[in-house]
Amino acid sequence: MDMKLNGKHALVCGASQGIGQASAEALAELGARVTVVARSADKLSAVASQLDRINGEKNQWIAVDLSNESEIEARLLPALAKDPVQVLVLNAGGPPPGPLQSADPQAFIDGMRPHLVASQHLLRAALPGMREAGYGRIINIISTSVYEPIPGLGVSNTVRAAVAAWAKTLVGELGPDGITVNNVLPGFTATSRLDKIIEGKARQQDMSDAEVAEQLRSFVPLRRFAQPEEVANAVAFLASPAAAYISGVSLAVDGGRLKSL
Ligand code: NAD
Repeated sequence: MDMKLNGKHALVCGASQGIGQASAEALAELGARVTVVARSADKLSAVASQLDRINGEKNQWIAVDLSNESEIEARLLPALAKDPVQVLVLNAGGPPPGPLQSADPQAFIDGMRPHLVASQHLLRAALPGMREAGYGRIINIISTSVYEPIPGLGVSNTVRAAVAAWAKTLVGELGPDGITVNNVLPGFTATSRLDKIIEGKARQQDMSDAEVAEQLRSFVPLRRFAQPEEVANAVAFLASPAAAYISGVSLAVDGGRLKSL
C-alpha cells in the first residue's frame, strides 16, 4: 500500500494544537513537507520545529486569523501561489456552544468565516498547483454532526452541514482532475476544544467536569475519548496515494458513537 507523501507539500489549517497539529505530524511522518497555519506565531514556530525533527524538511508556518479575509489575502494566498500545495487540510476552531433558539444571527456569520469562507479562498488558491502536479487531496475536519446534529451545538451543526454540502459539490467538479475531497468527522477527542465543551456542560447541568466526561464516555461504544493522533491517522490516509479512489466520504472517527447506518 502506497502511503508515501515524499515530495508533496501539505497546508494544514488550525495546526497550532489539537487535531490540526496531530494531522500535520502524521503527514510529516508520511514524508510530506508541511506548512502550518493558525493565529499564534509562537505556537506555530514550535510545531514547525517539531515537524522538522519528524521529516527532516524545512517546514513553514504562517500566522493568520482564518476569520479575517484581509489577512488570508495578504499572507496565505501569495504563499500558496509561490509554493503550491498538493494536500489541503481545512480546519479551525468550532463555533461556541449554546441553545440555537437564542443564538445571535451574527454567530452564523462568525462561524462561516473561518470554515466556509476561508476554505473557499484556500481552495481557489490551491487548485492550480494541484492540477499542475496531477495530485490533489482536500480534507475537511468537521464533525459527526453532519450525520446527527449535536444538541447544544446548533450554530456549529449548521456551519458543518454547509461545509459538508460544499465538499460534496466539489467532489463532482474536481473528480475529473483526479482531485479528491473528503471530510473527517472527529468524535469526542481529547483536546482543549473538548475540555471547553465539558466545562460548559458541567456548569449548565450542575455537575463536575469529571462526571460530564464520564457521561460523554458512556455514549461511546469504545468507552474512551479519541487521542488527536487517532483522528490524524484518518486525515493522513485520505491524503495518501493509497486513498486515490476515495472521494466524497464523511469518515467518522468516533469510537462507534454515531447511531445511524
Ligand atoms: P482545538 O481548539 O484544540 O484546535 C483548533 C485549532 O484551530 C487551533 O490550532 C486554533 O488555534 C485554530 N484556530 C481556531 N480558530 C482559528 C482562526 N480563526 N484562525 C486560525 N486558526 C484558528 O480544536 P480540536 O479539538 O483540534 O478540533 C478541530 C476541529 O474539529 C474543530 O472544528 C472542532 O470543532 C472539531 N471537532 C472537535 C471535536 C473534539 O472532541 N475535539 C469533536 C468534533 C469536532
